[in-house]
Amino acid sequence: MKTGNYFSDNADLVRSFDALVAWDRLVPLTEGAEADVADAVSTWREVLSLAGRYIGTEIASRAKSVDEIGIVRQNGTVDINEPLKQNVNGLKQLGLIGLPFPKEYDGAGLPFTVTAMFIEMLARACPTTMIQAAFYTAPGAMILRFGNEEQKRRYLPRLAKGEIIGAVAMTEPQAGSDVGKVMTTATKSPDCWRLTGRKQFITSGNGDFVIVLARCVPDSVGLDGLGLFIVEKPHYVVERAEHKFTIRGSPTCALVFEASKGELLGEVGAGWREILSFMNESRVGIGIQGLGTAQAAYEAAMDYAAQRRQSDKPIREHPMVAEMLLDMETTVTGARALAYTAAVLQDLVLFGRDEQAARDLRELTPLVKWYGTEGAVRVCRLALQVHGGVGVVDEYDVGRFMRDSLITPIYEGTSQIQSLMAVKDLMKTTLQRPASLLGRGPSRLLADASFDGRVGSDFAAARGHIVGALRSLMGRLVRRKGPGLLRGAPLADEDLGPILLHAERLTEALAHAHVARVLAERARHIPERRKLAERAARTARLVAERNRRAIALDDGGVFERIAAWRSERS
Ligand SMILES: Cc1cc2nc3c(=O)[nH]c(=O)nc-3n(C[C@H](O)[C@H](O)[C@H](O)COP(=O)(O)OP(=O)(O)OC[C@H]3O[C@@H](n4cnc5c(N)ncnc54)[C@H](O)[C@@H]3O)c2cc1C
Repeated sequence: MKTGNYFSDNADLVRSFDALVAWDRLVPLTEGAEADVADAVSTWREVLSLAGRYIGTEIASRAKSVDEIGIVRQNGTVDINEPLKQNVNGLKQLGLIGLPFPKEYDGAGLPFTVTAMFIEMLARACPTTMIQAAFYTAPGAMILRFGNEEQKRRYLPRLAKGEIIGAVAMTEPQAGSDVGKVMTTATKSPDCWRLTGRKQFITSGNGDFVIVLARCVPDSVGLDGLGLFIVEKPHYVVERAEHKFTIRGSPTCALVFEASKGELLGEVGAGWREILSFMNESRVGIGIQGLGTAQAAYEAAMDYAAQRRQSDKPIREHPMVAEMLLDMETTVTGARALAYTAAVLQDLVLFGRDEQAARDLRELTPLVKWYGTEGAVRVCRLALQVHGGVGVVDEYDVGRFMRDSLITPIYEGTSQIQSLMAVKDLMKTTLQRPASLLGRGPSRLLADASFDGRVGSDFAAARGHIVGALRSLMGRLVRRKGPGLLRGAPLADEDLGPILLHAERLTEALAHAHVARVLAERARHIPERRKLAERAARTARLVAERNRRAIALDDGGVFERIAAWRSERS
């Protein structure tokens, strides 16, 4: 695969760093009011360039072996493979593991926006290495947020230096998307908590400790009564690591807890709220993982299409191939612009407690995850197609990119769960401000945006189709529930049927509209980006129009079939 400096060789990433990010606001928040903005930004740029060189040479060149060797299973133990260890050791030696940890806990104290760029570069080189590195920081972020001072001192410096690695265990065999079905229990004993249950699909579950979501309030149900607990090795059993075709070097473990000794992290009963606040951050991270993989696939396709000749010309000069390449470029650049817009908001929330930023971030998070990961799968699929027959040959990297992209719309909340989150929030705002459906719609970010020329008219048309689709769905809800709906009448799944059915269509249209918005805003500062913004706005318009029509033409067939399946059960 292509090697080099994954920061400085990537013109759009460099531009995102130089032009997109609101450093004047972020530096005083993270470095203190007296800090020199130019100085801090230049240091962070150097860190990214240093990281980019290591990632783009050493890590990129080991990615194939990390994938081929997979996980090492020996004498009943699970371990990562040698090239992956070399990657992690290299990151440790360069001091790149603890980038987001505060300096007082031996980290570098970098803003999320900078570490997000580091994540993108890692995912471009080797998503398995990115995920492995993430499990030094992810459990650390939870301990930082919810732990007491003693817990922070005990874990954070060692995580920051890469001396220990953790895991976060939420999923159980019967509790996947439906987290409220968690059955692992935590019971208070005189000296500690005792955890009993099973967790599955736990990334890095073979590590040194695991943060477990468990039911700690007896007789509680659903998302109430949960808590977070730290359980250290050897108090739990790594039952197995899954054999899988994606991120093959990353151990995905089934864990068993049998009256395992644990300690509380955070508050009894607040586990769901706590894990959700962490998951919002990691969902942006997984959107960026998708982006990194898509970047790698796009580059491979560009290179191949320039040198492969058919019918006496490079295949990139065949219009259909050229259009695929442009589509990939728009998706990758759009995902990047959207992701770093969200990353900046994340910093404003984390360091500045900015409430408007929190509302905007809440709107964008599921869209970053949805667009970055579904976009990655599509870009990889197109890259494979551009490669023709060699695309399925193992010597080429695109097959691995395709396999690695496929995990991203699944973990940290599937695309369907992201869609439900995005649309439920939108519906809530609509019910609070129904008049917004007569104007530019309930999303403040979309409603306030306006642009000149073709970008402006296509963007406005996309927004109009989204508002039209929402109007039709709300109309169906009002006809079913009557005016009581606006006075807060309770809604059952049956009432919400059409909204649940079309949530992903709305989400797709929303994500494209936001991508068009952020690219159009960027094109104001970078005129050569105008064409790309026009393409994104036209795509947003087409997607929104198509999805609005699909919603309007819904013939209820899905619900008939569900009713039939339901009657088979009774
Ligand atoms: C490689 C890997 C690593 C992972 N790492 C971790 C980890 O570190 N920690 C951890 O806790 N978990 C982890 N997971 C678990 C992951 O988060 C779950 O697999 C994911 O949330 C989906 O849950 P599930 O597999 O049970 O699928 P299900 O929830 O059974 O979903 C199956 C399908 O039904 C759809 N679906 C489910 N409910 C709804 C609904 N209400 N509306 C519409 N569609 C719905 C889903 O979108 C999906 O398409 C990992 C999984 C994998 C594969």
